[in-house]
Amino acid sequence: MKHLIIFAHPNNQTSFNQAILEQAIKASQEQGIETQVRDLYAIDFNPILSWEELQAAQQKITPAEIRYEQELIDQADLITLIYPLWWMGFPAILKGYLDRILSHGFAYKTENGVSVGLLHGKKMQQFITIGNNLQKYEDLGFIQSLQNCLIDGLFNYCGITDIDHCLFGDIHILDEQTRQNILQEVREKTTQNLTALFALQQEKIE
Ligand code: FAD
Repeated sequence: MKHLIIFAHPNNQTSFNQAILEQAIKASQEQGIETQVRDLYAIDFNPILSWEELQAAQQKITPAEIRYEQELIDQADLITLIYPLWWMGFPAILKGYLDRILSHGFAYKTENGVSVGLLHGKKMQQFITIGNNLQKYEDLGFIQSLQNCLIDGLFNYCGITDIDHCLFGDIHILDEQTRQNILQEVREKTTQNLTALFALQQEKIE
């Protein structure tokens, strides 16, 4: 079983996102799961989907660096995204990663004019830190918007429907105990999701 973690925060030393990443890795490694981290800033991922790349894609030509990322996605049973909410969306580096990696022919295809997702059988979890208060976002209808845009709209389209996500709000003003509880939650959720996947795989074998 393979676990791919995609991390999109510019501070991979002391940010709270980094602390979340550490917990996800720890939970994964404790279960002996093969875990790969793609730290998008650390690998200096180029998020720009160029016109040349789009044109080449029509001839089914994919840059080697993108094929590599696609193979990691392809092989992963669990995909974890860790990122801060930036202007109601993914940080640009993660948005660009998704623009380039989730390409036609890899993440979805078109059959009789209808799009069909190709990334079936994978589980996803997302850990998203948010500056604002979650109840305020709920009252404004933003929580539903985030669910539509960051979770369902994009990944369901590509065939990933089993998605667990956690929004951690008020992130700058939480007390230390609450932050520790969040880190514990990340660890437990990752363990649970991996355990469930493992049980599912065992069922298939038997
Ligand atoms: P940090 O600032 O690194 O940490 C948060 C707190 O956790 C700090 O008190 C820190 O000391 C503490 N901490 C760090 N490490 C640990 C640890 N190991 N254990 C315990 N505590 C720790 N917010 C919105 O709500 N909506 C938006 O649309 C939005 N847009 C944004 C756009 C931009 C460009 C930016 C820069 C921010 C935006 N924000 C928005 C806020 C953003 O979501 C938060 O700044 C981000 O989620 C904070 O995550 P962090 O990892 O950087 O937190």
